[in-house]
Amino acid sequence: MDDNRTMISVLDPATGEEIGQVPDGGGASVDEAVRRARASFTSGVWRHMPGAQRAKVLWRVADLIDQRIDELCAMEARNNGMSRGLARAFTDIGTEMFRYYAGWCSKIHGQSTDLRVGPDAASSYEYHAYTSLEAIGVVGLIVPWNGPLLCAMVKLAPALAAGCSCVFKPAEETPLTALMLADILRDAGVPDGVVNFVTGYGETVGAAMSGHDGIDKIAFTGSTEVGKIIARAATGNLKRVTLELGGKSPVLICGDADLAQAIPGAAAGIFTNSGQACTAGSRIFAHRAVYDRVVEGIAAAADALRLGGSDEADVDLGPLISARQLARVNELVEDGRNQGATIVTGGAALDRAGFFYRPTVITDVRTDMRLYREEIFGPVVTIMPFDDEDEAIAEANNTQYGLAAQVWTRDVSRAHRITRKLDAGTVWVNCAVAFDPSIPFGGFKQSGWGQEYGWKGIEIYLRSKSVFVQL
Ligand code: NAD
Repeated sequence: MDDNRTMISVLDPATGEEIGQVPDGGGASVDEAVRRARASFTSGVWRHMPGAQRAKVLWRVADLIDQRIDELCAMEARNNGMSRGLARAFTDIGTEMFRYYAGWCSKIHGQSTDLRVGPDAASSYEYHAYTSLEAIGVVGLIVPWNGPLLCAMVKLAPALAAGCSCVFKPAEETPLTALMLADILRDAGVPDGVVNFVTGYGETVGAAMSGHDGIDKIAFTGSTEVGKIIARAATGNLKRVTLELGGKSPVLICGDADLAQAIPGAAAGIFTNSGQACTAGSRIFAHRAVYDRVVEGIAAAADALRLGGSDEADVDLGPLISARQLARVNELVEDGRNQGATIVTGGAALDRAGFFYRPTVITDVRTDMRLYREEIFGPVVTIMPFDDEDEAIAEANNTQYGLAAQVWTRDVSRAHRITRKLDAGTVWVNCAVAFDPSIPFGGFKQSGWGQEYGWKGIEIYLRSKSVFVQL
């Protein structure tokens, strides 16, 4: 190892203590990773492996994850701070991504047609024409810290199914399970050079990847701000870009909603993973007929959550990822408080080691407040009353984001009517946060470009070639 490389300290956010170190690879490591990825792509060792064979390797990855599930989830929970139960739920989705995309490996093909082109039969040409789908090339995969292993699997499974060679960068805060996944990919039979992991900071490794002429595509999950930096950096070689970005998801609780479902559902939609979720339902709009009961119910749900580290018993919620994130959440809540918002419950850090913040419910919010407009990425929800359905929808859409939304109602027509009008890539009706590998996921407006999951999720790693054969 190059001794001049900066080492990054990796922390347990429940204690603030160091649990490991990884190097900041910098531009040189990215160059080397791209060189290895390109060599493996050119050799065809992976992309030209028969689809049925690639499928077996991806299926083996899933089996090996299952075999090491306890170890992986313990590390994921320790490094990110999420509870063991959540780490398990996330990892199970990711494992199924490998099995789902294993199925696609043998079904990647284009279309064909026989053509006769010309003004009349005598002066026409006959062609056999077809399209073929090819792996797009060397892809750069950059992920955030809030679901480190799941985000890695959501990107690697379709990229590998498509036949791409990869350079992968985990978040600097949470690189540890990605490094375990590297061992699993090797043990499952992914050939040397096909997936190359580089640890480091966004400004060094991430920037080197987004601007690299040897990378054909970047698939990024993270903040809208960094998504824009990546889109700009990608113009050098016009590399393709897929972006899964931030959100400020609205939750509409109608007057006829079943509150016994809606209150725990909406509470889970914001507080899961301590609100550090792109889809977090952070703006609740409750019909005035149920508003008081919703505020009371969500506040009670917040107060009932038990906070603690991943090694402690009976824990519902972990800490935030870092002191920086804790300071940001605190700043936004204080800004709201100073401007007249009411903190119904929470609104403070826990008095203990680690980066814990109490689940927080806020009312009397104005739409120009920062805490209402900006993605907080913490366990903080605002609740506003509404009288008119259309006004509530307009306010739900009054954001730069368009990632997800929830609608709670017993009226099926109302559910479909509202769903049609919402600017959100995913709408959950009478549920919060449902995912499946087969259903595309992605954001409208400034929540992203393109979609992952499903066939759309593999298409972003393919290019289509059109061929005309004159007969
Ligand atoms: P972030 O944008 O700060 O960082 C994400 C990744 O980008 C990290 O690996 C980071 O090192 C890297 N990065 C930072 N600066 C970079 C640069 N200049 N060039 C290239 N890469 C750079 O985001 P975060 O704080 O780690 O994660 C939280 C954000 O991720 C939130 O906005 C959240 O909504 C979003 N997110 C979106 C989804 C989704 O699917 N839409 C899922 C999870 C998280």
